[in-house]
Amino acid sequence: MNTIVVTVDKENPDIKVLAQAGDIIKSGGLVAFPTETVYGLGGDALNAQSSHKIYAAKGRPSDNPLIVHICDIKDLDAIVEEIPEFAKRLAEAFWPGPLTMIFRKSEKVPYETTGGLDTVAVRMPEHKTALEFIRQAGGYVAAPSANVSGRPSPTIADHVIEDLSGRVEMILDGGEVGIGLESTIVDLTEHVPMILRPGYITAEMLKTVIGEVTIDQAILHADSKEAPKAPGMKYRHYAPKGSLSIVEGNMEQVTTRIQHLLIEAKQAGRKVGVIGTDETVSLYADADVIKSLGSRTDEEAIARHLYKVLREFDEEEVTQIYSESFGDNKMGQAIMNRLLKAAGHQIIQA
Ligand code: AMP
Ligand code: MG
Repeated sequence: MNTIVVTVDKENPDIKVLAQAGDIIKSGGLVAFPTETVYGLGGDALNAQSSHKIYAAKGRPSDNPLIVHICDIKDLDAIVEEIPEFAKRLAEAFWPGPLTMIFRKSEKVPYETTGGLDTVAVRMPEHKTALEFIRQAGGYVAAPSANVSGRPSPTIADHVIEDLSGRVEMILDGGEVGIGLESTIVDLTEHVPMILRPGYITAEMLKTVIGEVTIDQAILHADSKEAPKAPGMKYRHYAPKGSLSIVEGNMEQVTTRIQHLLIEAKQAGRKVGVIGTDETVSLYADADVIKSLGSRTDEEAIARHLYKVLREFDEEEVTQIYSESFGDNKMGQAIMNRLLKAAGHQIIQA
C-alpha cells in the first residue's frame, strides 16, 4: 500500500486535506493523526472491518480494546448505554482533553472495537486537527497509539512513518505532540471511579471534580496477582531493544550508582546508555550514549521526551540502558508507569 503523508498546520488545518482523510475512514481505510497526547491510528469505530485492520496494522492482540474518539459531547449518547453523573461532570471539566472514560457500550459499537468487552472507552481530544478530522470521518474514530505493538508510542510523525508506512492509507503530520504520554483512563462502570492508566490528568485533578477515585492496584505493582483492568496494561509496551534498568534512591545515590554501573557494563563489553536529566547528564561522561529528558523541574518536558529518547536508544543499538527514576507525584506517576513498563520492572536500589 502506498501511504500518503500530508503536513497539516495543527492550529489551522486545511479542511480539504481533512475531508480527504475523513473519506478514507468512511470507506473503511486507516489514517494516522496527531492528538495532544500521542499520534493515533484511526479507523471507523462503528465498522468491525476497520477495527480488524487496525489490529493487523499494529500487530496488536485483538483482546486489547480501542479508544473511540469523538468531537462533540452530543455524539456520546449513541455509543453508550448510559452517562453516569460522574461522567457528565468529568466531561465538563476535562473534555476536550487527555481523559478517556469507560462506559457500558450501546449496540452500535461492534465487539471488534471493544476487544469483546461490553464496555467502551471514549475520549474527546483537545487538538484542532484531530477534532476536525473526526468530524470529517463521521464522528467516531477508533484509535490506539500509531505504533507497532511493543514499540514506544509516537510523538512525531517520523515515528509513525517508521512503524506504519505501507500499512495505512494516510499519515497526517502535525509536528510534535504537546503531552507525549497516552491519556488517563478512568473506569466509570465501577461503584467508585477507578484509574486504569495514569496520565496527564492526575488522581488529584479527578478528585477535585468527583470526590472519590481509586487506582487499579495491579498497574502499580509488578508482582500483583490480579490482571490489570485495562487489558492493554498487561503487555510489556514501550520496550527498547536494549536491556533497561531504573535506578531508584535519592539523586546523589542514583547518579553515583549509575556511574559505577556504566563502568562495569562497559568493561563487560556492553554499549551503554544513560537516561538522565539536564541537571545530571554531565556526570555520565563514561557512557556511550547519554540522553537528557529535560530539566527535573519541568515534568511536562520529561513526559514529552520519554518515548522519543527510548526510540533513539534503539537507533544507536545500545545494549544496556540505565535510567534515573522520577517522583510519583502528579505526572510523575504516569512517567514512572511508562518507564517501569519499558524496563519490564527491572529496578536497582541505589
Ligand atoms: P492505546 O489506544 O494504545 O492508548 O491503548 C488503549 C488502552 O485503553 C489499552 O490499555 C486498552 O486496554 C484500554 N481500553 C480500551 N478500551 C477499554 C475498555 N473498554 N475497558 C478497559 N480498558 C480499555
Ligand atoms: Mg498504545
